[in-house]
Amino acid sequence: ARAARAATASGPGRTRDGFAVRLAANIGTVADAERAGAADCEGVGLFRTEFSYLGRHDAPSVAEQTATYRAVFEHFAGSAVVVRTLDSGSDKPLPFLDLGVEENPALGIRGLRVANLYPDTLVTQLDALVAAADATGADLRVMAPMVATADEAAGFAELARSRGVGKVGAMIEVPAAALRARDILEHLDFLSIGTNDLSQYTCAVDRMTGSLAHLLDPWQPAVLDLIAMVGQAGAVAGKPVGVCGESASDPLLAPVLVGLGVSSLSMSVAAIGAVRAELSALDLEVCLQMASAARNARTPVDGRAAVASIRNSS
Ligand code: PEP
Ligand code: MG
Repeated sequence: ARAARAATASGPGRTRDGFAVRLAANIGTVADAERAGAADCEGVGLFRTEFSYLGRHDAPSVAEQTATYRAVFEHFAGSAVVVRTLDSGSDKPLPFLDLGVEENPALGIRGLRVANLYPDTLVTQLDALVAAADATGADLRVMAPMVATADEAAGFAELARSRGVGKVGAMIEVPAAALRARDILEHLDFLSIGTNDLSQYTCAVDRMTGSLAHLLDPWQPAVLDLIAMVGQAGAVAGKPVGVCGESASDPLLAPVLVGLGVSSLSMSVAAIGAVRAELSALDLEVCLQMASAARNARTPVDGRAAVASIRNSS
C-alpha cells in the first residue's frame, strides 16, 4: 500500500513546481454550501441543482429558486460557482417533469434534453441563477448536463447568454461530446467532464448495476483517451477543462487527470485535502508521465500499478 502524503499543504491547488489546479467543491444543498464556504477550497465546481427539488410534484417558481440559490451563493461572494442546470431523468427523476415511460431512461430524455419538452423550466432557472448571483456577488458560471452535440451546446449558450449568464459551459459525459469537444468549445467558455456518466456511456454499463463495476472504472484506458481529447481541445482553444466526477477525488488519478490537460478538479469537500497534498508533491512533468502510463496500460489494474510506481519513485 502506498503511503499517504502528509496533508500539510493548504490554499489554492498547485503542483510542486507551481502549476495551478483549481480545487473546488461539489455541493447539492444549502448545508453543503455552508460547509464548503467554510472549508479550504476554491469555490464550487459542481452545484447539482436538482438535489433541491427531488420529490417535488410542483415546479419551483423563480422566487423560490432565487431564494435557494441566494442561500447557496452567499457563502461564495467573489468566488467562482459552477452551477449545473437541472439534471433530471434517468437516475435523478423530478416528479414535476413528466418524461413519459422510457425503456432505457439513461439513453432517453435526461439532462439538457428535458429542456426541449419543458423550455420554460430552463428559462426560469437561468433567471433565478442570475438574480441570485447579482444579489450575492458570486462569480456565476452555468453549465448544461448531458450535452451530446455542438448544436446543443450552441443552443444552450445562446439561451443562457440571452438571460444574462456571463460564462457558459457544458458537462462532457457523453462519448460523442468528448470526441467533438473542439466543436462544442467553439460555443462555450469552459468544459467540465462528468466521469461518472462518461464511464457509464463509454463502456455501455448502467452505473446502477453494481455487478458490472469493473467496467465502470474511470481508469479504463478508453475513458482516459476521451478525457485526453477533451484536454487537448481545451488547450487548443485556450479554455479551461475540469473534472467534476468521482475520479477527481482519487488522489492517484487526480495527477493523471492534470497530465491529461485538466486544470480544475471538483469533489466532495472531505476529499480535497488528500488531493491537494498529492499534487503539491508532484511536478507537472510527473503528472504528464503518469497520464502516458495510464493511457498505455491495457487494463485499469495495470494503469493503477504503473501510475503508483511512478508516484512512489518520484
Ligand atoms: C458525472 O456524471 O460524473 C457527474 C458529475 O454528474 P452526476 O454524477 O450527478 O451524474
Ligand atoms: Mg452526470
